[in-house]
Formats: sequence, structure tokens, C-alpha cells
Amino acid sequence: MAEYQAPLKDMNFLLFDVFQADKLWQNLPKLADHVDKETSEAILQECAKIAEQEIAPLLRVGDETGVSFKDGAVTTVPGYKEAFNTYAEGGWTGLGGDPEYGGMGMPKMITALHEEMLCSADISFSLYPGLTAGAGLSLAKHASEELKEKYLTRMYAGDWAATMCLTESHAGSDLGIIRTKAIPQDNGSYKITGNKIFITGGEHDLTENIIHLVLAKLPDAPAGPRGISLFLVPKFLVNEDGSLGERNGATCGSIEHKMGIHASATCVMNFDDAEGYLVGELNKGLACMFTMMNFERIGVGIQGTGAAVRSYQNALEYAKDRLQGRSLAGAKQADKEADSIMVHGDVRRMLLNMKAMNEGARALTSYISMQLDKATYGEGEVQAQGDALTALLTPVAKAFFTDLGLEATVAGQQVLGGHGFVREWGQEQLVRDVRIAQIYEGTNGIQAMDLIARKVAGSKGQLMDVFIADMQAYIDQTSAPQMQEFISPLSEAVKDLKTLTDEILAQTGDDINILGASANDYLHVVGYTGMAFVWAKMAEVALSKQDSGDDFYQSKLKTARYYFARL
Ligand SMILES: Cc1cc2nc3c(=O)[nH]c(=O)nc-3n(C[C@H](O)[C@H](O)[C@H](O)COP(=O)(O)OP(=O)(O)OC[C@H]3O[C@@H](n4cnc5c(N)ncnc54)[C@H](O)[C@@H]3O)c2cc1C
Repeated sequence: MAEYQAPLKDMNFLLFDVFQADKLWQNLPKLADHVDKETSEAILQECAKIAEQEIAPLLRVGDETGVSFKDGAVTTVPGYKEAFNTYAEGGWTGLGGDPEYGGMGMPKMITALHEEMLCSADISFSLYPGLTAGAGLSLAKHASEELKEKYLTRMYAGDWAATMCLTESHAGSDLGIIRTKAIPQDNGSYKITGNKIFITGGEHDLTENIIHLVLAKLPDAPAGPRGISLFLVPKFLVNEDGSLGERNGATCGSIEHKMGIHASATCVMNFDDAEGYLVGELNKGLACMFTMMNFERIGVGIQGTGAAVRSYQNALEYAKDRLQGRSLAGAKQADKEADSIMVHGDVRRMLLNMKAMNEGARALTSYISMQLDKATYGEGEVQAQGDALTALLTPVAKAFFTDLGLEATVAGQQVLGGHGFVREWGQEQLVRDVRIAQIYEGTNGIQAMDLIARKVAGSKGQLMDVFIADMQAYIDQTSAPQMQEFISPLSEAVKDLKTLTDEILAQTGDDINILGASANDYLHVVGYTGMAFVWAKMAEVALSKQDSGDDFYQSKLKTARYYFARL
């Protein structure tokens, strides 16, 4: 496996040249005092070091050793604990956390790039801090002051990790039918009883306590999703002074043996009269959990891109060295037995596909993250637009980028030929590790339905109109003749998306099943169109800098042309 190299130059290009994040941050008072270009560059550089040097080397051993389970305890892979401690000591566990409780308060535009580096290094490792960060967001938004002071500060510090406990054996996509019960107690707490399956990081030895966010129902709760509440259930009860008390009734019954992400503990969790505390209002648990799930969904999309980037780097390095056959145009390395496989058009096609889709996915993730930052830190119209675009594009990020993630890891495997299928080169692990990203955190089928039914049809097309208006405004204001090779196909794609949306909405009157039947394809159309939008933006900057003598901009332009011509 090629050594991972964080694509820092591309990340800074996106933040400051394409999306001018520094100007946005200055205009958002809640960010202006602690985030600027210099801070962001320093953060990403430090993150690259830890991803490249501490986490990426654990990828292989994590796969081969895997987590182990004995007497209710999970032991993580050798090296994980040390890497996690280094990561936590560096403050990374609180990177996006609320500064009032010890977090660093960094915007999603920065934390998303940090997540990509972690996922390229090792998806399994990224899940432990990733779930903790998501749980932190949900607590920061919905929990009482008392819970926040007691738990959130320790989670941001990396002392304690967190989980999300939704799934039960009979209830996966359909959470309305969960059976876990919560019985109110005189002291205001609840006794939680039930069984959850597939819980990532449900038990491990990386932190001294684990904070479970558990969905459960009160005995008299309304049926279906409207009767679900959210509870904080610690592995160890926490005393008033913050020290750890008795072991709570939350235990791990077993772990799953899986196709990939062997270093991530996927646990059956048993809750037996476990003490829990309500988060948010009774029966509004799903909404509270969605704060976490939306964050996690963008994060799972980033897992797809992270794996795709690692696949590209691995395949590129292999292709440069592998000698097979001769170029159609005559020998390129006449002194060698054969030419490098880079001379073959079909190999270059596979590599270029990966490069164009990976850079496009990173750019579209930056655009979506920018909307989330506007929604979180902005006001008035800026916030409303951020809210609308985040709601619309979160399922696209989750499903489109994880579909691309699998495609790219399989394409990398193809570039390696038979060596991509055997274990030695590490490529087949990338395929196995990324596959789950299409399934968990709401399957890609559920994401597609969320987009077309809840977001598009549910808003009578209004949310899609916000996205189309943003793309159209860019098209209208970009009149430079040299940009027309990008603007003209983008304009066609946006018109097609509008027509397709109108046609689907019109047909729902005759047959509502049209939504389910077209959901997956529709999501892909939105993804490809969104990518055309951000590729045009990248091309515009690259054109303005093409004479700078820096190959980066020439390469960007060529890749943009490839995207519009071929993808
Ligand atoms: C490794 C791993 C880690 C996980 N981590 C966690 C975790 O930390 N916490 C947690 O709570 N859960 C976790 N999960 C559970 C995961 O989120 C679920 O497996 C997933 O949401 C799908 O649920 P299911 O497996 O019950 O499939 P089902 O819901 O039975 O779905 C089966 C198929 O039917 C389709 N389908 C179902 N309903 C609909 C519908 N309404 N419309 C269209 N299609 C539909 C699905 O798309 C899928 O293709 C994890 C799972 C795994 C394997």
C-alpha cells in the first residue's frame, strides 16, 4: 500500500481560492474572533501529520488483528490506544465542539477536511472520535445545562467516547417500531431496558467511560416515530464531582464478525435497568438524534471520499511502477522490458475517473459544509439558505459519495490487476472497508427516499429551487468567453435537473410509487449536476492562475475538461 499523503494543497485551494472561506468566516460574528486563514492552514497541516504518521500505519494491522471480545470487554488493535491518546491530547476530539464546554469551535468547512484525512488513513479509527463528535453536537443542542457540563466537556477532551444506539434486531430503517423501554424514576432519571445491535464503539478500551445516546420509548408513548425519546446512558455512572461511580447496566453481549472495518467494534448492547437521563423533550427523540445523524451522514459521505482518495493514491503509485506491454504509439521506455501501464489509455481512464470524481466530491463536500456553517453560525437570509441547502444535500453527500467510494476502490483494484485482489497490496481492504458506508447511517436507498420524497416532494420542489437558483446565479454572472466551455454544459445540466424534478413531481399525482422507483437515479443526477457546478467554479480559479507556472492549476483545468467531456 502506498503511503498516504494528505492532499493539503487541494484542500487549501478549495477553502480560500474557490469558496473564499476566510471572507465568509469574517462575516459570521460567531466565528470571526477565532477562525482565520492562518489558523485553518495550521490546523490542516497538523492534522495531515497525525493522519499520515500516526493513524495510516495502523490500517493494515487493524484489518489483520481486528478487535477482540472476552468476558464483556473489547480490546482494540495494538497501537490504537496510543494513537487515540495522541489524537485526544492534540485537542482533535473537540475540534468542532462548542467553545463554552472546551471545544475548539471550528466550522464544518475545516472539520470536514480533517475527517477526510482521518478516513483516508483508516475508516475504522475515524469512527471512534467521529461518533463522539456527532453525539457532542446533539448534546450541545438539546441536553440540559447540567448534562452538558458533566458529559460534554469530558467528551470534547477525549476522556470519554460516545455511541449512537438506534438499531434493534427487528428495527433498522424503521425506527418507529423500536422496543427499548424507558421507565421514569422518582429522581427524574429513567431506567432503560432493551437490546440494541450493530452499535459502533459500544464497548472498547480507548477511553475510561463510554456515553451511549439511546433511543427508547416510555410505556405510554404514542406509537411510531412520534413516541421515541432520547436518553444519555453512561457505561459508568458519574458522581457529582465528575469522578466515575458504579458500573451502569449497559453491557456488551458480543461483537460482530464483518466483511470490513475489522478494527471498529460493532457491538450487541444490552441495557438492563440502566440509569439514563432524558435529552431534549419527551417523544422528540428522533429530532434530537437527527442533529447527530445529519452530521454523521455527511461524515459517512466523507468516508466514501476518504477511501476513494486512498485508492487513487495506491493505484497511481502502482501504475507508475508496473511494466506491462507497450504504448500504442511505440515504446516509451525502450530501455526496459515493457512500458509502465500508465501508457495505456484504459489505465489512464480509470485513474482520471478517480481523480475527477475525488476532487469533485471534496469540492461538493466543501460547498455543503459551507451551507452547514451558514445554517449554524449565520443569521436571516444567509441562515435560511444554509438550512435549505444542508437539508437538501445531506442525503446526496451520504449516498452519492459512498457509491463513488466503492466505485473508486474497485477501479483501483482493476488498475492493480490480480494484485488488487490479493491481500499483499492492501487494495482489497479498501473495497471491504468502504462497502459498509453505503449501508449504515441509513442505507443509500433510504437517503434517496429522504431526498426525493421528504426534501423535494415534501417541500413541493422549493428546496430544489433554492439549489437551482444558486447554480443559476453563478451561471448568469459568469460571462467570460473562456468559461463558456464549462458554463454551457453546466447550464444544460441545471435545465435538465429542473425539467426532471418538475416531471417527477407532476407524475406523483398518478402514481406515488414513481418516487421510490426513481429515487436512486434522481439522487445521482443531483450529485453529478452539483459536481458540475463545483467543477466549473474550480475551473474558473484555475483559468485565472494557469500562467502562474504552477502545474497544479494546469492539472485542475485538464481534470475539469475531462469531467465535462466524459463524466
Ligand atoms: C458495521 C455496522 C455498524 C453500524 N453502526 C451502527 C451504530 O453505531 N448505531 C446504530 O444504531 N446502528 C448501526 N448500524 C445499523 C445500520 O444503521 C443499519 O444496518 C441500517 O440502517 C439498515 O438497517 P437494517 O440492517 O435493519 O436493514 P433494513 O432496514 O431491513 O433494510 C433492508 C433493505 O430494505 C430497504 N428499505 C427498508 N425500508 C425502506 C423504505 N422505507 N424505503 C426504501 N427502502 C427501504 C433498505 O434500503 C435495504 O436495502 C450499523 C450496522 C453495521 C453493519
